Amino acid sequence: MSVSAPPAGVERDFPLARLTTVRTGGPADFFARPASSEELGSLLDWAARAGVAVGVMGSGSNLLVADAGFRGLVLKLEGELATIEREDDRLRCGGGARLPQASARAAREGLTGLEFGVNIPGTVGGAIRMNANAYGGDLSRVLEWAEIVSAAGCERRAPSELGFAYRRSALTPGEVVARASFRLAPADPEAVKSTLADMRARRREAQPSGIKTFGSTFKNPDDPRAGGRTAGLLLDAAGCRGLEVGGARFSTKHANFVENTGDATTASVLALMAEGRRRVRDRFGVELEAEVQLLGDAGGEPEQALS
Ligand SMILES: Cc1cc2nc3c(=O)[nH]c(=O)nc-3n(C[C@H](O)[C@H](O)[C@H](O)COP(=O)(O)OP(=O)(O)OC[C@H]3O[C@@H](n4cnc5c(N)ncnc54)[C@H](O)[C@@H]3O)c2cc1C
Repeated sequence: MSVSAPPAGVERDFPLARLTTVRTGGPADFFARPASSEELGSLLDWAARAGVAVGVMGSGSNLLVADAGFRGLVLKLEGELATIEREDDRLRCGGGARLPQASARAAREGLTGLEFGVNIPGTVGGAIRMNANAYGGDLSRVLEWAEIVSAAGCERRAPSELGFAYRRSALTPGEVVARASFRLAPADPEAVKSTLADMRARRREAQPSGIKTFGSTFKNPDDPRAGGRTAGLLLDAAGCRGLEVGGARFSTKHANFVENTGDATTASVLALMAEGRRRVRDRFGVELEAEVQLLGDAGGEPEQALS
C-alpha cells in the first residue's frame, strides 16, 4: 500500500509499550500527539484518505498492544485536548485529561459526582469509551455530552447516544472523544475530599499497587453458573491466583489482575489469559469475556480470547 506523506509532527515506528501500564507490545507505524481539535481533525482526515487505520491511546491502562505493533496511526491527545476547566457546576475536560485529576479538581472546586474516577488511572476519553466505573458511580449520570471527532467531522453526543453498556460504548476505533462536559452538583469541598481519601484507602486494601498491570482482565460474568461470583473469585477458585506464563502472572493479591513481573510480552499475557479462561470454563462452564482492549493484530488463537 502506498501512503501519502503524513502531516508534520507524525512520528514513525513509535514504541508504544512505555505508554501502557502493563509495558508490553511493539511500535506504531505512525504516532502523533494532537493538541487541538483542528490538528486531530487533519490527522484523521489524512488517515482516512491514505487508508491508514486509527487507534487512540489514553493512559494505556486498559490496553494490550500486539508484540508486532500496530499497522496504523496511534493518537495521544495533549494540549487543549487534555485540559480541565470549571464552568459553573460543570467540569469541561479534554479527552486526554486524566480522570483522577478531574475527580480531584472537582473536589477542590466543591463539586460532587465525579468521585468514582479517583482510582481509575485512565483518561476522560478512555473512561467514556470503556464506560468506566467504580464504587457504584455512574459516568452516564454526570456526563452531559461528549464531543466526538472522526474523519466525518465533529459532533456532540449525549450519553443516550453513546451506546453505554457494562464496560463498553458504541464508539468505533476512528471516533475520538475530544472533549467532554460533566454536570456536577455543589458540595462541601472538605466532604468530597474526604470521600476521595476513603476511596483511595479502600482501593489500597483491595488491589495490588506499584505493579505493571491493566487492572481487571476479564469482565464480571452475568452467567447464572457463576453464582454471582466476580471474575476474580472464579479465577481464584479455578486455581489461577499466582499462575504464571512467561513473566505474566495472575496477581496473588487480586486474581483478575495480570501483572508483568519483568519480561512479559503481549503473547505471554494472552497465553495466560487463555489458560485462565480455559480453567474457569472447565470448572464452572462460564465463558469469561476480556475487559482489556487489544491494539494491533496479535494473531492466532489467543487473540480470539479477546472480545
Ligand atoms: C490499577 C488499575 C485499576 C483500574 N480500576 C478500574 C476501575 O475501578 N474501573 C474501571 O472501569 N476501570 C478500571 N481500570 C481500567 C482502566 O483504567 C479504564 O478502562 C480506563 O477507562 C481506561 O482509560 P485509558 O485512558 O487508560 O484508555 P486506554 O487503556 O488507553 O484505552 C482503552 C480503550 O479506550 C480507547 N480510547 C482511549 N482514549 C480514547 C479517546 N479519547 N477517544 C476514544 N477512544 C479512546 C482506546 O482506543 C482503547 O480502545 C483500572 C486499570 C488499572 C491499571
